[in-house]
Amino acid sequence: MVVDGDDVHAALWGMPVRGGLGLLDSARGLAKLELYARARRVPAWITPQTSAEELMHSLFRSDFGRRAGEASIGLLAGVTPAEFTAGQFLDYVRAAGSVFKLLTFAGGAQDSYFEQGAGAIADGLAEAFTGTIHTDAPVTEIRDTGTNVEVIAGDRVVECRRVVVAAPPPQVADIAFTPTLDDYRARLYAGAHMGRYTKIAVIYRTPWWRDRRRTGTVIVNAGSEIQMIVDATPHRAEHAALAAFSTGRGADLLAARDEADRAAVVVDAIESALGPAPEAPELVREQAWASEPHLRGAPAAVFAENPDLERLRRNHGRVHWAGTDLALAWRGYMDGAVGAGRAAADEVAEALRTDARHTAESSRPA
Ligand SMILES: Cc1cc2nc3c(=O)[nH]c(=O)nc-3n(C[C@H](O)[C@H](O)[C@H](O)COP(=O)(O)OP(=O)(O)OC[C@H]3O[C@@H](n4cnc5c(N)ncnc54)[C@H](O)[C@@H]3O)c2cc1C
Repeated sequence: MVVDGDDVHAALWGMPVRGGLGLLDSARGLAKLELYARARRVPAWITPQTSAEELMHSLFRSDFGRRAGEASIGLLAGVTPAEFTAGQFLDYVRAAGSVFKLLTFAGGAQDSYFEQGAGAIADGLAEAFTGTIHTDAPVTEIRDTGTNVEVIAGDRVVECRRVVVAAPPPQVADIAFTPTLDDYRARLYAGAHMGRYTKIAVIYRTPWWRDRRRTGTVIVNAGSEIQMIVDATPHRAEHAALAAFSTGRGADLLAARDEADRAAVVVDAIESALGPAPEAPELVREQAWASEPHLRGAPAAVFAENPDLERLRRNHGRVHWAGTDLALAWRGYMDGAVGAGRAAADEVAEALRTDARHTAESSRPA
């Protein structure tokens, strides 16, 4: 299926779609998914072991619908439906409020983008921060001494009263904790893995697709190496850009090709959806999150079993937890990371007040 801005036969919750009868099946399947996500109790056949793939098979009857479902899961979590449980997928939808919020552009998860790139957020926060930020070595060990916490990164030992760990779960599994993590947390983190996500920016001299009255928004069905293309041209920019997203199985296939081949696949996907380009790209730049040593994937982690977030969010002595994978709302998204970070900050502030009270009480003469 190719979904394209103005060249459409129908629109599905703000997303333009071309796909004949499969469209009806997709609409029916998505409506059912929404019901399951909102229901207090899911149907009895969905057990903790049911995979998202089995859920997809029940929701969608047509190949079109199932492929669209797989493409959506790839775009949402960077995984194939077989890689995580139906329970996690439904929780993911619940955390966003609704399946339509997740899938839509205007007013939904794809509403806006950062003109200077998402890295501008980290840069802005770093600029406003008055302490020192070390980025030269990952944290490998966290030791609770009984009065303080020692955080070890490379040959540096940082002593603090409380620590917030906001690294993705598979990275946490590589950190040695003293005292050791409880069995539940250790098992969940050890069994977690990240989605696979590659973003490829294709820079053109002009936004030629706009001349053809195309938005540049394309959803390509699963089976392809590219799942989505969007117009990523910044306002007032001298160049135009399309961003292509390769996820899950698509990202695995793309990674197996050499660099020139990968660029050709992306340009081919663009041209088969938007028509032959009148100009060659000036630049093709890719970012494969699976190759980032301290992330090993994106945009979120999937666990081998349905996680009990309440247990995972509970502090481990002086160690507190944040990160989008533990978020109650918008899990896997930036809003989720901010929400989990705020909750951890409140928890630490409260713990420090309690610690201070205990210190004052114990130093008071009897
Ligand atoms: C292509 C793409 C598109 C996306 N689009 C959107 C979008 O449109 N909207 C949206 O809301 N979200 C989007 N996301 C998801 C968003 O980026 C994440 O939800 C968000 O970055 C999660 O924030 P976080 O702080 O939990 O984790 P991260 O941003 O992953 O940060 C974790 C940090 O921990 C560090 N780390 C790991 N191990 C260690 C260690 N041992 N010691 C010290 N540090 C460590 C890592 O280096 C990293 O800096 C997208 C993601 C991708 C990849």
